[in-house]
Amino acid sequence: MEKRKQLKPEVLVPRLGEHLVERGLITAADLQNALDHQAAYRDANSAPPLLGSILIELGLIDQSSLDEAITEQIIQLRNALQDANLQLEKRVQQRTAELERALNKLAELNQLKANFISNISHELRTPLTHLKGYLELLLSQDLGPLSQSQDQALHIMQRSTERLEHLIEDLILFSTAERSTIALDVHPVNLANLGLAIINQSITKANEHQVTLHLNLAPSLPFVKADADKIAWVISQLIDNGIKFTSAGGKVTLRAEQIDQFVTVSVEDTGIGISPDKFEEIFEPFHQLDGSSTRRFGGTGLGLALVRKILDSHGSKIRVHSQPGLGSKFEFYLRTAEKQPKRD
Ligand code: ADP
Repeated sequence: MEKRKQLKPEVLVPRLGEHLVERGLITAADLQNALDHQAAYRDANSAPPLLGSILIELGLIDQSSLDEAITEQIIQLRNALQDANLQLEKRVQQRTAELERALNKLAELNQLKANFISNISHELRTPLTHLKGYLELLLSQDLGPLSQSQDQALHIMQRSTERLEHLIEDLILFSTAERSTIALDVHPVNLANLGLAIINQSITKANEHQVTLHLNLAPSLPFVKADADKIAWVISQLIDNGIKFTSAGGKVTLRAEQIDQFVTVSVEDTGIGISPDKFEEIFEPFHQLDGSSTRRFGGTGLGLALVRKILDSHGSKIRVHSQPGLGSKFEFYLRTAEKQPKRD
């Protein structure tokens, strides 16, 4: 019985009493009178009737005036709700437009950044070519004899220009990859030969860091479908990082083995390792795990970003397995070539 009373339309409208006073249907004294009655019910510990029922009971308003006032208030509330919805929709539209503008601006900035990197790296390459040429001339003593210390100094300069050239090449590759998809020149590639060549190239660097290099290839590895230069770049980059982040006495191993229609390639080191919560971060361009590592190990933070882009364009993914202090393993797969060329 009590419950049914509470389900009257009046329960939908807040502050009915004030509304009735405002509309002149009852006086403030009437309202107070009815509220006192309601309070009396509460004091007697019984659930009080709704205000409207008390007003009717006291003869302060008739049923139809009360119903009309309640209906009017419900309509007002509905209109207010519609208005609020409209406002909300408008704000959502405004915010969406703002977000779109910000996104376009961001895309524009990204494009500008890529263009800037591309222009600047090409500009850097020209004077570097002159530097390299003259250094070679000087070192070959075509421009006159060199003392031992001059020869040493020029060799240091030559190594620095090589490093600079490397960085510029990475920047150019990165800006190209940012502006368009990487164009691949895909052929059947002999990973065994490629791996051996890369290991041979990296030996000097490994020796400098007193890190040993290991090549562990499964026998009769099939040819894979890949852009040989780009995959060589990826493997070299991973080996370079392995050497860079491994202290003296450690080792870096390049492995390749066939699993069904794929060859899995991995580069594993016994270096400083990476915390699993950083596995995504390290692939972001210009990202290095911390400031001190930048100073200690050098680099641009572009290597892994490019590695991922190149592997993406091969339809491959790179996976990291690592624990701080226990070394890291970077692994990816390449599809075997349909036609296996004859081995020499
Ligand atoms: P860079 O080596 O030029 O800093 P990368 O993109 O190759 O840039 O690597 C990004 C970051 O990932 C590195 O600065 C380093 O913090 C971390 N990282 C990459 N390879 C390794 C590794 N083999 N061992 C530990 N940390 C690594």
